[in-house]
Amino acid sequence: MKFATTVELKLSNGKYIPALGLGTIPSGDASDVKDQVITAIKAGYRHIDTAWFYGSEKYIGEALKEVFQQGIIKREDLFITTKVWPSFWHSPEKSLDISLKDLGLDYVDLFLQHWPVALHGDQNGQPAVPKNEDGSLKYDDDPVHGTKFIDTYHKLEDILENTTKTKSIGISNYSIPKLKQLLPKIKKHRPVVNQIELHPQLPQRDLVDYCESRGIVIVAYSPVGGPGAPVLEVPLIKELATKYDVSPNEIAEAYHILNGRVALSRSSNLSRIKTITRLPRITEDELEQLYQVGVKDPKRYTCDPWGYGLGFKYWKGDTLSTEFD
Ligand code: NDP
Repeated sequence: MKFATTVELKLSNGKYIPALGLGTIPSGDASDVKDQVITAIKAGYRHIDTAWFYGSEKYIGEALKEVFQQGIIKREDLFITTKVWPSFWHSPEKSLDISLKDLGLDYVDLFLQHWPVALHGDQNGQPAVPKNEDGSLKYDDDPVHGTKFIDTYHKLEDILENTTKTKSIGISNYSIPKLKQLLPKIKKHRPVVNQIELHPQLPQRDLVDYCESRGIVIVAYSPVGGPGAPVLEVPLIKELATKYDVSPNEIAEAYHILNGRVALSRSSNLSRIKTITRLPRITEDELEQLYQVGVKDPKRYTCDPWGYGLGFKYWKGDTLSTEFD
């Protein structure tokens, strides 16, 4: 059986992205991420996904230093993604500089805009989740109709154009309405990926098709639905895992990779990291059956409050996004 860790997808700028990436949101102590990264690289992962917001970049930096020093892997054989958080919307290069310093790197392979919103923050992006006195989120721009998120993307373009700090740029958590606002305003460099929540319970085929028809590769986060792995309870995933003699996690990853998308998996369990790397050859028909699970009964697990109003479907508690309809 082929290994998911060996599959690469071509980006619109001609570069390649490994189709299986290790997620690095800490489950508990952020320092645990160091061992997770070392374990993953030894198991064949070549793609590490992180963000300033996760607070794990320093520990990823320690892991990278160790694997480079021990000659386990070279920098150029890894693909490393980081992201600029909305409270840094005014100064993404400063955010990238902080990430690079913590990671101990001269460049990342991919720099993403984490969310298309502008939260209030100081020059160091603090506080990351700013609140007004009444407890509501403190924005620097109207979260539904504002356009400052486009200014942030333009700054990412400038970083790509004028520095060597990143090889590619992209976006995350962009809905179709937000893409429709951004794409006509791009100066020169289109986003190579859109990183979104995607799994059999949340197929979002309209958004996937919209991106793919414009050459934007989909990077699927929460392939098993995040903490508690609710997606693994889907009976069809269990059935396919038995049929192909792999773990349910490998079915959840294959659902994306065989459809030409990147899957980001995360685990605090080192033995799980080592053993969720195979790529079973699920049939076209089975892939379609997995897709139908969420068409009938969609579930979104990441419903962060700053995502309200972005125009996503099935956003829990959202009333604002209907304004886009
Ligand atoms: P997953 O869907 O892989 O969920 C990981 C969680 O599932 C962990 O808590 C893990 O627990 C648990 N899990 C996995 N397999 C099993 C299993 N077999 N049995 C029980 N529990 C299991 O991923 P994430 O939601 O973390 O997303 C992956 C990555 O995507 C993130 O780390 C991050 O890098 C990125 N991301 C990006 C976002 C964005 O806004 N751009 C938002 C969210 C994620 P355990 O630790 O015990 O294995």
